[in-house]
Amino acid sequence: RKVIFSAIQPSGTITLGNYLGALKNWIELQDEYECIYALADLHTITVRQEPAKFRRNTLEAYALLLACGIDPQESPFFIQSQVPEHAQLAWVLNCYTQFGELQRMTQFKDKSQKHPDNINAGLFTYPSLMAADILLYQADLVPVGVDQKQHIELTRNIADRFNGLYGQTFKLPEGYIPETGAKIMSLQDPARKMSKSDENVNSSIAVLDRPEDIMRKFKRAVTDSEACVRRAPGKDGVNNLMGIYSCVTGRTDEEIEAEFAGKGYGDFKTTVGEAVAEHLRPIREKFDDYMKNKDYLEQCYAEGARKAEVIARKTLRKVMKKVGFLQ
Ligand code: ATP
Ligand code: MG
Repeated sequence: RKVIFSAIQPSGTITLGNYLGALKNWIELQDEYECIYALADLHTITVRQEPAKFRRNTLEAYALLLACGIDPQESPFFIQSQVPEHAQLAWVLNCYTQFGELQRMTQFKDKSQKHPDNINAGLFTYPSLMAADILLYQADLVPVGVDQKQHIELTRNIADRFNGLYGQTFKLPEGYIPETGAKIMSLQDPARKMSKSDENVNSSIAVLDRPEDIMRKFKRAVTDSEACVRRAPGKDGVNNLMGIYSCVTGRTDEEIEAEFAGKGYGDFKTTVGEAVAEHLRPIREKFDDYMKNKDYLEQCYAEGARKAEVIARKTLRKVMKKVGFLQ
């Protein structure tokens, strides 16, 4: 069976963008593939974290992903910092990644603009750690949102370069990007992607938001002055809401345009809000149950790390040997 690997950072409250762009696929792929999933907490400290909050975010993200439907018996689900091979391989790969390649990464440019006071080396080398995450498991496919496409390309280049020097070592992975939902935009600034690290709470819908908060945020969502629900260039806000509605109901653009023909944005936003709240309700309920059972969560992530490490160690050994480290 083909191998799937993907990870998400516990860098804040998991958003509807994360869910529609990545997590929904993670769940669906479990039936068909060998899936391995992680919380990428090593990546998270590229932006300064408050320790207690970081710890809480990590546990909550773990419970939330179980609530979304990850089956930890089927799919090893672990926390990256608990499998040391990630950091070890990342160091090796750093030495096979060019400064210029990292400099071209748009995420680095975006995030260093956002945090000009903390442009640390980890933020710069984030993509080689991500390459290590993926390559350790010899993944065939990596389900991600479109913002990660460039990092997957770089991962392939690093793997290909290493294979060229030392012979076949890493499988070259491919991104697996959904047709709808691959890039959910901010509700307040629909030219930017929705991000869980965004400080403006009205910009993003959290998977765990209460229905009344979801409704309020959709009602405040930025649209345009045309007052016509249709997909068109320049209508970023409306296009985004249509995309979200399409993801949670399975309806096409034409069906949505017909549904709201002659109606204003008020009706449209309310309907989208209700559909999203309804879609997320069972996840929130399951999350509450998991959070009541911390022992179970602890047992789950410890077991996940054990399973992941068996695979990761094999790849790392091979790499160390090929590079010439004394065994
Ligand atoms: P941060 O702002 O801390 O980087 P993030 O919201 O970008 O958080 P990540 O943990 O970096 O989340 O990414 C997790 C997954 O969610 C990735 O697969 C990424 O492609 C996907 N993703 C992130 N934002 C969006 C979005 N707005 N629309 C669709 N997918 C997204
Ligand atoms: Mg991100």
